[in-house]
Amino acid sequence: MDLGLSGKKGIVCAASKGLGRAVAVALAREGVDLVINARSQDPLKATAECIRAATNVGVIPIAADITTEEGRQAVLAACPSPDILINNAGGPPPGDFRSVTREEWIRAVDANMLTPILLIRALIDGMVARGFGRIINITTSGVKSPGTYPQLGISIGVRSGLTGFIGVLSRQVARHNVTINGLLPGRFETDRLKENLEYAARAAGHSTEEEALRVRSVIPAARFGTTEEFGAFAAFLCSTHAGYLTGQNIVLDGGAYPGLA
Ligand code: NAP
Repeated sequence: MDLGLSGKKGIVCAASKGLGRAVAVALAREGVDLVINARSQDPLKATAECIRAATNVGVIPIAADITTEEGRQAVLAACPSPDILINNAGGPPPGDFRSVTREEWIRAVDANMLTPILLIRALIDGMVARGFGRIINITTSGVKSPGTYPQLGISIGVRSGLTGFIGVLSRQVARHNVTINGLLPGRFETDRLKENLEYAARAAGHSTEEEALRVRSVIPAARFGTTEEFGAFAAFLCSTHAGYLTGQNIVLDGGAYPGLA
């Protein structure tokens, strides 16, 4: 299927590895010129070169912390009028909320709620004026099934705030062919998953391998997701065909979410 994205421009935040990188790769395969971002310069440059070599699209790497004002301005300066915005950043560390300080809460709100909102604020009017925009916020399946992740209350709490706000905003721009959706990963094979499994294994007093087996056993697909699956789905959501799909929070979790909606 031609996704109708050739020649479009996209920003993918937090994209040197993991889910962000997979989305960048999938968009590049469709001919989207990219600005990609992460904090560490070398892996980001390596990712940019790899994508460029494989697809021939333009890829500008911006090494910056997207959760800071300077970081966001650097990314926006490199691509002031994108057709696609993928909001992503590292998640807050797991832990019991009793030991989380106010400053840590504020950092989490900044990173996983306000950063996507501020990027959207900077870009949405341009998308509306041009009559095309696709915005995806990468959050977590915990937004729909918080009880599954007892150690991730901070992450789920602040991402739920973002989700509520997007529920309002997405309806205000839909008539202009600008869509905003949440993509809610369950468990995908990335470094972040490894860290979460290690944390849960320590808490349960068994090995990371045992924890991985336990978690896989409660996923109906009986495996973790691949980053390629995530990237391909995100690219479809950015496509010209997905213009009628907005304000949704789509769980990609191998069937782990037990409800219907
Ligand atoms: P990952 O493999 O650890 O990759 C994280 C990427 O984000 C790296 O490129 C990292 O590069 C970049 N990054 C982190 N903080 C950043 C910042 N402040 N500014 C710019 N770039 C930043 O993680 P992932 O698994 O892809 O996770 C992506 C998001 O999905 C996270 O928010 C995570 O909580 C969420 N999620 C993941 C899963 C899963 O199963 N993988 C499940 C639920 C939710 P630098 O370190 O160089 O900045």
